[in-house]
Amino acid sequence: MAGKVPRIAVYKFASCDGCQLSIVDLEDELLEIGQRFEIAYFMEVTRAARKGPYDVGLVEGSISTPHDVELIKSIRKDCKKLVTIGACATAGGIQALRNWANVEEFSKYVYAKPEYVQTLEKASPVSEYVQVDFELRGCPVNKYQLLELLSALLAGRKPNIPTYSVCMECKMKGNVCVMVAKGIPCLGPVVQAGCGAICPTYSRGCYGCFGPMESPNVKSLATSFIDLGMNKKDVILTFRGFTGWSKEFREVDGLIEG
Ligand code: SF4
Ligand code: SF4
Repeated sequence: MAGKVPRIAVYKFASCDGCQLSIVDLEDELLEIGQRFEIAYFMEVTRAARKGPYDVGLVEGSISTPHDVELIKSIRKDCKKLVTIGACATAGGIQALRNWANVEEFSKYVYAKPEYVQTLEKASPVSEYVQVDFELRGCPVNKYQLLELLSALLAGRKPNIPTYSVCMECKMKGNVCVMVAKGIPCLGPVVQAGCGAICPTYSRGCYGCFGPMESPNVKSLATSFIDLGMNKKDVILTFRGFTGWSKEFREVDGLIEG
């Protein structure tokens, strides 16, 4: 992309808008971002939308309606590079917890007129429908990782985002392990770094908002939770958080005895 200002588009699907707000929240860097990129489409910020094609599409949110499926396919055609941002777009998000239940049953209780609700049976990560060039994790995404992603897009290189675990960051901070010292279940050993091990730093277990690290040993950690005295149901529920529908976490019930 060297030699011209890349055109960027930011899209939202089923989500809370937090990752889009993380872009706006880059206060000190925002002016420079505006100079280095043409922000051509970003409805959260402005209704002035310029038509594609775009060099980069940043996508927040999971795919949960038939309309979403059509839209993400057309976005893919419009964007040379497509990057998903946040737990909803990369793993389905908290709304994907309904994937283990009957969505029609839920709709009956939540909506006064469920017959007007058009939804897919499952809420899914974007990568289940179109090819994605890069996934930026987190709920919401981390400011420094977002800046690294934008710098890498400008330079035409791969973003330098670690794929090791939250445990690594936790140890580098010198934290005492909450699981070893206090018996608090922590997903840090199988979750991708990026947050700076926020939760263990405040004496809480990691609940997995950055999603699975590269090649996580989910079975081993789930077995350690059982050894801590947890029952199988609670172990399964510990994995079913913001990224519970990720490929690596969704099948934890089949990995443990009981
Ligand atoms: S507290 Fe969690 S993230 Fe930190 S070392 Fe222990 S298991 Fe790993
Ligand atoms: S420690 Fe885990 S749950 Fe907490 S912010 Fe980091 S990845 Fe998310």
